[in-house]
Amino acid sequence: MEFNNTSALLQDEEKRTLTIYLTAFYLTLILFDVIYNFLYKSQGVTTGYSNNLGYLNYVFYFGLLVLSFYLFKRGKHTTIKYIYVITYFTLAIIYDYIVFYNNPSMYASGNAAEVILVLFSPLFINKRFFWVASIGGFLRYIIVGILLHTSMVLIPILLILIFSIISYILLTRFYSYIKALTETHEELRQKEKLAFVGQMATTIGHEIRNPLASLKGFTQLQREKHKEDEFQYSIMEQEIDRIDSILNDLLVIGKPRQISVKQYNLKELIEYVVSITEQSEQGKNIAFELKMVESFPLIECDEKQMKQVFLNLIKNGLESMPEGGKLTIEGGQLADNQVSIRICDEGYGIPADVQEKLFQPFFTTKDYGTGLGLMVSKKIIEDHHGKIDIESNEGNGTKVEIILPIAQ
Ligand code: ADP
Ligand code: MG
Repeated sequence: MEFNNTSALLQDEEKRTLTIYLTAFYLTLILFDVIYNFLYKSQGVTTGYSNNLGYLNYVFYFGLLVLSFYLFKRGKHTTIKYIYVITYFTLAIIYDYIVFYNNPSMYASGNAAEVILVLFSPLFINKRFFWVASIGGFLRYIIVGILLHTSMVLIPILLILIFSIISYILLTRFYSYIKALTETHEELRQKEKLAFVGQMATTIGHEIRNPLASLKGFTQLQREKHKEDEFQYSIMEQEIDRIDSILNDLLVIGKPRQISVKQYNLKELIEYVVSITEQSEQGKNIAFELKMVESFPLIECDEKQMKQVFLNLIKNGLESMPEGGKLTIEGGQLADNQVSIRICDEGYGIPADVQEKLFQPFFTTKDYGTGLGLMVSKKIIEDHHGKIDIESNEGNGTKVEIILPIAQ
């Protein structure tokens, strides 16, 4: 996971982090130098540490600071940290080599500022930078060790290793914390979206329902009066039924409706749904196959909602086989007081990129689809403490599995 650095907020964060990082670096650099070279030396304490960069040190880091200001103003602040790490370690190698070349046994590791470079690297929440800083620290001592033929570098190498491990732990903690935050945020956003859609759906659904009911009543009356227009009226009624079923879906997304649970035999319920779909699919080269255990366990459910689920899923299966094919419904008991019902078609299947969006409201790939069927079915199944899973390979049909608890 890398964060997109283009947002203004993130850029500000990066700038603030850079300021902290560099302040800590400079403070340590100067403080360490002052303590060892002025205080200790003036008291005659020999530490082995040499101001390996000399006064040039200050000239150089002042110059680097000026360069950083320039880059900062030019909006190139993301590169500054790399410049510091890379130049610090390169210079440290060169100066260690020059200072200790004639007396490697006196070798003592450099300024504590390099600890800051490694230890504070997780502040940027950037794995690449962490690796550059840690590996830079390692390489610096390995190269010095090789050049000076001294094993004195083992201690700083060990220290860098310990600091890198600490930094890595901090970095991964930051990462997983941010990931959890982003996921929670995304979840909330989805919930809000659903709540909003649900509210709209319920309001509009209720508003349309009543006029639609009277429209249907009058259409039926007219149909009886004008037998000669039977064909047109039957189409009108079918279309009204279609609107009604869309409204039903919409109302499920909204506020939780009262579900009236009773114990039902799902096998009978499914057989009923299959029988009515079979009638409307006549002449379409569709074969239904029901493979359900004889004594199917009773399920506590809302009959109307459960019928809607199976109708939605069977319809999806049939719609995926415009040339015809076999639709299989299997049902059986699972070990842990649950039942499983699988609806399998031989249709065109679902491509991987579509699979991620299946349960989103209004997601459809069909010209006349509503994109509500699956999300409504999922909501109903979850209201019944069950779960729904879809398995599909493009071109190889689709298998929808529903798992529900058995009535106790
Ligand atoms: P709709 O059927 O109105 O499009 P659904 O929520 O029922 O809405 O389905 C959403 C989408 O999921 C469909 O448009 C289709 O792309 C895909 N889909 C669902 N079931 C199947 C299936 N059995 N075979 C192939 N694609 C399917
Ligand atoms: Mg559908």
